[in-house]
Amino acid sequence: MQTHEIRRRFLDHFVKAGHTEVPSASLILADPNLLFVNAGMVPFVPFFLGQQTPPYDRATSVQKCVRTLDIEEVGKTTRHNTFFQMAGNFSFGDYFKEEAIAFAWSLLTGSVEDGGYGIDPEKLWVTVYLDDDEAFAIWRDKMNVPEARIQRRGMKDNYWSMGIPGPCGPCSEIFYDRGPEYGVEGGPEADEDRYIEIWNLVFMQNERGVGISKDDYPILGPLPKKNIDTGMGVERVAFLLQGVENVYETDLLRPVIDKAAELTGALYGDKHEDDVHFRVIADHARTAAMLIVDGVNPGNDGRGYVLRRLLRRIVRSARLLGADRPTMAEFMAVVRDTMAPSYPELATNFARIETVAVGEETAFLKTLGTGSKLFEGAVDAAKAEGRTVLGGTAAFTLHDTYGFPIDLTLEMASEAGLSVDEDGFRSLMAEQRQRAKDDARARKHAHADMTVYKELLDRGPTEFTGFGELVTEAHVL
Ligand code: ATP
Ligand code: MG
Ligand code: MG
Ligand code: MG
Repeated sequence: MQTHEIRRRFLDHFVKAGHTEVPSASLILADPNLLFVNAGMVPFVPFFLGQQTPPYDRATSVQKCVRTLDIEEVGKTTRHNTFFQMAGNFSFGDYFKEEAIAFAWSLLTGSVEDGGYGIDPEKLWVTVYLDDDEAFAIWRDKMNVPEARIQRRGMKDNYWSMGIPGPCGPCSEIFYDRGPEYGVEGGPEADEDRYIEIWNLVFMQNERGVGISKDDYPILGPLPKKNIDTGMGVERVAFLLQGVENVYETDLLRPVIDKAAELTGALYGDKHEDDVHFRVIADHARTAAMLIVDGVNPGNDGRGYVLRRLLRRIVRSARLLGADRPTMAEFMAVVRDTMAPSYPELATNFARIETVAVGEETAFLKTLGTGSKLFEGAVDAAKAEGRTVLGGTAAFTLHDTYGFPIDLTLEMASEAGLSVDEDGFRSLMAEQRQRAKDDARARKHAHADMTVYKELLDRGPTEFTGFGELVTEAHVL
């Protein structure tokens, strides 16, 4: 079943059950605390918090999501994309646990002729929160899931809150067993690579107060109106239904892998290391296109930095696979062709997507070769001196002169078995910022006219705050 169809069937299933179909929100919301929308419920937060009254009791959507926390996982696990589509159904004080469970189960296991996904119920496992006997009983008695395939899990996996006082509650998750050739027996508790998480059902039933930590807070009591929030990974269901090996080989991303093979001469499926680069290219090319179309431009901080990092990782991966000329325009064209049936804005805005992505590629290709040489020299020197740490000065020069995002340097260093003196790097960055400020001040005194400000504005944001500080996304589902 094609990914577009999986997406469409989800919406149809819930519309039939009285849900209003709500289009995906942009990846970028006004909230400066949230880097990108990272779950289907994010646009509905004001309804869940009771700050606004929803115009419907039931809604369904397929929300565009970006999770920067998963960047390092891409290509290494079978199931993590940086951009993915989260399909969800939401109840605002309307139906609760039993209906939410029954809706999910009937879509997953319903026959293909009747609009379902036709998954064999024997392949599915479920989890519930430790003391959620109600959910446990619904799975066992109403859905007829054998007790042996229902696992109880603790706070970390199966209890949801937004990290602030307000609604919270237990979750129940659905997993697909890929079979013994993919790992050990024993359900998701034993092996999340064999048992792939596909759907999270959140039962918002309690209100929490202020706690001492993200996971330690008082439950004040039951909510007056209970809500349902669910999220199903469209890419994960596609990977499992299409019988491929991972989320990068589905109908939406495999064509990018094939294009990369054609352009670089490398073979997919030949060497693990190369395969990771192929998957990184496929995943990141799509994420970059989706970010650009939602208005992000490459930059040195915040959202722009994430986009820059993704684009530069693509360039580096293509290089490592053997590309000796630019490839970005062709990757973007494949993304457009596979994704436009669900996201026509990729076709209508293609010229801009191409210009931005190729611009970044051109800039990075100019310095990638010399930067890599400098990097290798620094690694050799460190190793020759018996050091396991790459100096902050090298990292700073790579960033400042060659445009290597610090995370790329960290990654390359770790591939070479070294760590990086990040404190040294940061203090050099801070010194540079101070110099820039002093310069600006000196120039302001020199000519007290508006051109100074204009120049600063033209230059754009130059402050670099480090990737670690950018991961501000609340883990909301
Ligand atoms: P995992 O444990 O596999 O990292 P998660 O628990 O972080 O997943 P949730 O936050 O519960 O995921 O999100 C709801 C659903 O969205 C998941 O059940 C999964 O199907 C999908 N999903 C989450 N993260 C990703 C991702 N990086 N790529 C593709 N799908 C994802
Ligand atoms: Mg996760
Ligand atoms: Mg999980
Ligand atoms: Mg989950």
